[in-house]
Amino acid sequence: MGRLVTTDGLTDVQEEILKTVREFVDKEIIPVATELEHKDEYPQAIVDGLKELGLFGLTIPEEYGGLGESLLTYALVVEEIARGWMSVSGVINTHFIVAYMLMQHGTEEQKQKYLPRMATGEVRGAFSMSEPSLGSDVSAVSTKATKQDDGSYSITGQKMWLTNGGSSNLVAVLTKTDEGADSVYRNMTTFLVEKEPGFGETAPGVTIPGKIDKMGYKGIDTTEMILDKHQISADQILGGVPGKGFYQMMDGVEVGRVNVGARAVGIANRAFELAIAYAQQRETFGKPIAQHQAILFRLAEMGTKVETAHAMVVRAARKKDAGERNDVEAGMAKMVASEYCNEVVEASFRIHGGYGYSKEYEIERLYREAAFMLIGEGTSDIQKMIIGRSLLKDYKLR
Ligand SMILES: Cc1cc2nc3c(=O)[nH]c(=O)nc-3n(C[C@H](O)[C@H](O)[C@H](O)COP(=O)(O)OP(=O)(O)OC[C@H]3O[C@@H](n4cnc5c(N)ncnc54)[C@H](O)[C@@H]3O)c2cc1C
Repeated sequence: MGRLVTTDGLTDVQEEILKTVREFVDKEIIPVATELEHKDEYPQAIVDGLKELGLFGLTIPEEYGGLGESLLTYALVVEEIARGWMSVSGVINTHFIVAYMLMQHGTEEQKQKYLPRMATGEVRGAFSMSEPSLGSDVSAVSTKATKQDDGSYSITGQKMWLTNGGSSNLVAVLTKTDEGADSVYRNMTTFLVEKEPGFGETAPGVTIPGKIDKMGYKGIDTTEMILDKHQISADQILGGVPGKGFYQMMDGVEVGRVNVGARAVGIANRAFELAIAYAQQRETFGKPIAQHQAILFRLAEMGTKVETAHAMVVRAARKKDAGERNDVEAGMAKMVASEYCNEVVEASFRIHGGYGYSKEYEIERLYREAAFMLIGEGTSDIQKMIIGRSLLKDYKLR
C-alpha cells in the first residue's frame, strides 16, 4: 500500500475492516475481475465472499444483526472494492441505500422485517427512481400507485436502470400517488416491493425483462422493471405514510453520492497504481518513461487528483456521520471525484501507450468504468445545480 488514499483518525475496528477488505480485493477480486467483466458474468463467488465478510450488513445497526459501522467506513470499503472491480461495489450499493432508507425512514415493523435478513444478504435491495423518460428530473415520475377501496394500492408503470434489478428481492420503488398536495414533491410515495430474484414475472404484476447490455459496469445486472397492476398492501409504504417518497429518495441519493465518489476514488487509485508501475518498466529513448518529465508530471497530477478526491469523500461522509445534512459536500465530492477519475484514467491510458487499448490490460476496463461515474447518482450538471443553489442561499447579499 502506498501513501495515497490513507485516512487519519480511524478506529482500530475500521483499520481492521479495511485491511481485511483490501486483502480480499487483492486475492479474490483483482485476479478475476477483467475476465469476468469481459464475459459479463455475475461474480457469484465474490458475492458469497462479501456475505461471509458481513459486508451486506456493514452499516446496519448491531441490534438488527449488522456491524453498525458508519458511512465513512462504508465509503472507505467501497474505495477498496472499486479499486479491484467497480461492478462489485455496485452489488452492495443499492442494497446499502435501501437499508439506509429503512433505517432512517422505515417503521419499526419494517426494520424488524427486513434489516436482519438484509444484514446476512438473504434479502438484497435495489433502488428504483429512474424511468425511461426521467433521471435527473425526479418530479416527472409517472409510475402511478392508485389507492383501492380496501386501502391497498395498485401500481402501474415502467421503471428503468435498476442496478441489481435481477438479483434483488426487495425494491424501493418511487411512485406518484394522489395525496392532494399542492406540490408535486409531496405527491410521491416509496413502496417496498417484494419479488423473486431472476427475470420474467418475478411477482404478480412485476416483470424484469432482462439485462440491459452496457458499455461497462458488466457482471452486475442492470434492468428495467414493468409494473402492471401490481397489488401491494399499504403496510409496504416506506415509513407507513404516503407522500414522503421524494424526500426519502433524496436522502438515499445523498449517501449514494458519497458512494459514487468513493467508487471513483477506487478506480482512479487503481489507474494511478497501474500507470506508476508501467512507467517504471516501459523504456523509450534509452530510459524508463517515468524519467521523461512529461510522464513524471502526469503522475504527479494523477496522484494529487486521487488524494484530493479521497479527502473530499471522507469529509462528506464524516459530515453525514455527524448527523448533519451533507448535500453540498456530497455533491462536491461526487462531482470532483468523478471528473478527476475520468482525467486520471485517461492519463493512465495515455501512459500505457498502445497497450492501454488492448483488452488484456486492466486500464481498458477502468476506462469504461470511469465513464459511468459521470452519470450515476446524478450527473455533474445536477451536482452543480445543487451546490450552486445552496451557495447562493448561504452567501445571499443582505
Ligand atoms: C448503469 C446505470 C445504472 C443505474 N442505476 C440506477 C439505479 O439503480 N436506480 C435508479 O433509480 N437509477 C439508476 N440509474 C439512472 C441514473 O441515475 C440516471 O441515468 C442519471 O440520473 C441521469 O439521468 P438521465 O439518464 O435520465 O439523463 P437526463 O436527466 O435525461 O440528462 C441528460 C443530460 O442533460 C443534463 N441535464 C439534465 N437536466 C439538466 C439541467 N437542469 N441543467 C443542466 N443540465 C441538465 C444531464 O446532466 C445530462 O447531461 C442508472 C444509470 C445507469 C447508466
